[in-house]
Amino acid sequence: MFLADCHVHSSFSSDSSESPENIIQTCIDRGFKYAYFTDHHDMNFPVNSNNPDMDFQLDFEAYFKKLSQLKELYKNKIEIRIGVEQGICPEIADKISALSDSYPFDFIIGSSHLTNLSIENGDPYYPSYYEGRTNVEAYRDYFETEAENVALTDGFDVYGHIDYPIRYCPDKDFVFNFKDYADIIETLLKRLIEKGKGIEINTAGITKIGYAHPHIEILKMYKDLNGEIITIGSDAHISENISYGFDQVHTLLNELGFKYYSLYKDRKPEFISL
Ligand SMILES: [Zn+2]
Ligand SMILES: [Zn+2]
Repeated sequence: MFLADCHVHSSFSSDSSESPENIIQTCIDRGFKYAYFTDHHDMNFPVNSNNPDMDFQLDFEAYFKKLSQLKELYKNKIEIRIGVEQGICPEIADKISALSDSYPFDFIIGSSHLTNLSIENGDPYYPSYYEGRTNVEAYRDYFETEAENVALTDGFDVYGHIDYPIRYCPDKDFVFNFKDYADIIETLLKRLIEKGKGIEINTAGITKIGYAHPHIEILKMYKDLNGEIITIGSDAHISENISYGFDQVHTLLNELGFKYYSLYKDRKPEFISL
């Protein structure tokens, strides 16, 4: 079984109130060797005045201070690794690169939560993202922005939940015909591989769309292109969801012929046999 859950949010994220201690204890209870923290940081996030606490700005000083203390405290029970889920947009690619070098991260997930910095039409979470266009057009726009992001910055290690907008499609049909996107997804995956970056399997998709992100056809293409770096994460925002669906993912990766998954330390991948 996997040695860690590489995508977990604590109360350092705007959208979680889970204590880091609960997360660590849950990781110990699950038999993990490592506890990863990947709290949100979405630079220049357009804050809604009705909801000012949801700013997705990580207090890096407090974060490293707290997690470094816990790392010491729990060192005989589990190894804590400090990461971040960095929101990526083309407009802030330079800042993302600079920030990734400013702190001693073990691991950085780069994720597209906003495709541009206008919350009205840049965030697949909101129905306005899909307005005035088909789902195919909206998803293509998302994949194109991801491919652009990969060309613009090295400030991440793996790309998070790469087919994320399917989760939020307003008509809830969750239809995804891979052929409609195969060309742009191939560009995206090739760019990631050329840069030595990986992808993640994100099991939060299972409860929302019936399978873990990304879609199996994307994983198959990644394998065919000789993509090797895959991290596994639940995207848990409460500790109960840590390692959700991991058995299923383990089986899937074996069926697809993958031999390894990855864990990051000091932003370098370690390859662990499945
Ligand atoms: Zn995310
Ligand atoms: Zn997340």
